[in-house]
Amino acid sequence: MRLILLALLLACASLRAAGPVYVVLWFDTEDYVEQAADDAALRIARDLTGLGVGATFKVVAEKARTLDRRGRRDVLDAIALHDIGYHSNFHSQQPTPALYLRDLGYVEGAAEFERRERPGMLDLARIFGVLPSCYGQPGNSWAPQTNTALRRMGIPVYLDEGTHVGLNNQPFWYGGLLYIFNMGRYQLRAPLDGDEPLAASFTRFDAAAAELAARGGGVISIYYHPTEFVTAEFWDAVNFAKGANPESANWVRPRRRTESESERCFRILHDYVAHGKSVPGVRFVTARELLQLYGKPAAPQIGREQIAAHLAARQTFLETGEGSLSAADMLVALLGMDPRYVDGPSTRATSTLRAETIPRPAFEHAKADAVSFISANQRLPAEVWIGSQTLSIGDFAATMAGDRGEGDIRVRHANLEFEKYFSNEPEKAFDWPIHPEGFRAPELLELGRLQGWTLKPARLR
Ligand SMILES: [Zn+2]
Repeated sequence: MRLILLALLLACASLRAAGPVYVVLWFDTEDYVEQAADDAALRIARDLTGLGVGATFKVVAEKARTLDRRGRRDVLDAIALHDIGYHSNFHSQQPTPALYLRDLGYVEGAAEFERRERPGMLDLARIFGVLPSCYGQPGNSWAPQTNTALRRMGIPVYLDEGTHVGLNNQPFWYGGLLYIFNMGRYQLRAPLDGDEPLAASFTRFDAAAAELAARGGGVISIYYHPTEFVTAEFWDAVNFAKGANPESANWVRPRRRTESESERCFRILHDYVAHGKSVPGVRFVTARELLQLYGKPAAPQIGREQIAAHLAARQTFLETGEGSLSAADMLVALLGMDPRYVDGPSTRATSTLRAETIPRPAFEHAKADAVSFISANQRLPAEVWIGSQTLSIGDFAATMAGDRGEGDIRVRHANLEFEKYFSNEPEKAFDWPIHPEGFRAPELLELGRLQGWTLKPARLR
C-alpha cells in the first residue's frame, strides 16, 4: 500500500514538473499554378477546424490574389478561421529574396525588401481582413535584412525552417522578431511518402514531446504544403528551377497524385494531428499565440555588475533566472540608455587604435557619441571614434564593460561568442532548386552574424 502511495506521489510530482509542449502546425500555401492545390488547402483547413486545431497558413500574396480572382471565397474563408502568415509576394518568381538582397547592405536591403514585399502583405491584409502574424522565406531564400523590414511592416514573428541561424532547436529572439526556426529534432512531420509506418511518426512525436516536457516545456514545429497532398512534384520546381523565370503563359502544371494517393495523404495528416492532440500536456498553437506565450522580451532585472562581468569576457546573450539579455541589450544598459530594441551594426569594422589605454575624457566622449548614434539610427554603430582612431563595436563593448571607473581605461578585445550560432556554409544554407545553380551568399551570413548582437533565447512566460 505504501509503495502504491509512493508511486502515486512520484507520478503526481513528475506531472507537476512537466512543462507545456506547444505544437505549431503550419502550411506554406503557395502554389498558384495547380488549381487542385486550392481544394487541398480547403480540405486541410476544414479538417483541422473539425479536429479543433488552429494552424498557421503562411500564404503567398499571389496565391491569395489568385484565389480571390478565381472566386474561391470558400477557400479564403476556411483558411481565415486559422492564423494567417505571409510567405512572400511571389515566392519562386525570380529574383527571390536572397538573390536580390545578397549584394545589398543591411539598411538598403531592408528598404528593398520592404519595397518589394509590403504590397503583398497589404494584399493579404485586404483579402483576409487581418494583418499576417508571421513571415517565412520562400525555400531557404533567407536574408537578415528582412527582420528590420518585417518589424516596420508590423510582422512580429519569423516562422520557417533553415540553418542560417539557430539556438538550441527552440524559439529565440533575433532581429527584434520571435524566431521559430532551425528547430532540429523538434521539427517533425509524418512523411506523406516512403515506407515509414505512421506508428513510427507517432513514436518520434511522443519522444520529442516527452523530452521537451522534462525540460520545462517548449515548441514542436510541423509543416506541410497543401499542394503536396495533390501533386507528386513541386509547382515551382517544374517552372522556376535554377533561376528560370518563364512567362505565366508558359507555366506548366506539376504532375498530380491520383485521388486515392491524395486521400491517403490527407488521412496521414489527420491521424498525425489527432494523435498529437491526444498526448497529455500537448497543445496546438498558432504563430500569433506563440507570441503571447513567449511575450515581448521583458527587460529582466540583472545588475550592472553582472552585465559588465559577462560582456567584458564575451559578447553574447546572458541567461539568468530572471530572463535573458542580448549582447545589444547589455551594451545599451551599460551606456545608461533606457531598455530598447536596437539592430546590430550594418558593417564589420576593425579597430585602428593601437594604444593599450584610453584617457578617460576621450572614452567618455566616445560613449556619448555611441548613445547619440544608437538614438538616431536604432542600431549599433560599427565602430566608435577615439579621436582620429577607431574601436570596433566589439572592442568598445569589451573595453567599456571592463572599465573599473578609475584612471585611464585599458583596451580589451572583442570575443564575439554569438557568432557561433550562425551557419558557416554559404552554399549549403542557400541550397534550393529555385536559386541559380551554385548560388552562395556568404554576404548574407556575414550580415546575419553582425546582427547576432540581438540574439537571445526566448522564454515561455
Ligand atoms: Zn514555400
